[in-house]
Amino acid sequence: MESEIKCPKCNSLMEEGFLLDRGSENFLFPAWWVAGNPEKSIWMGLSIKNREVFNIKAFRCSNCSFLEFYAP
Ligand SMILES: [Zn+2]
Repeated sequence: MESEIKCPKCNSLMEEGFLLDRGSENFLFPAWWVAGNPEKSIWMGLSIKNREVFNIKAFRCSNCSFLEFYAP
């Protein structure tokens, strides 16, 4: 799916997608943007308690492969 967003490097149209977080064999989730530095938790690998999180939109240039991320 082509977006209206243009590549800042070569000015071609960019394709919309997302980053996949493959933490488990059976479940696939889109990756999130999390505020601050990663902090280890005994229970979940990383703790994101009280953090601001956003889904990430990733745009890829079909011409030069440049990636640009947005967290609306
Ligand atoms: Zn490009």
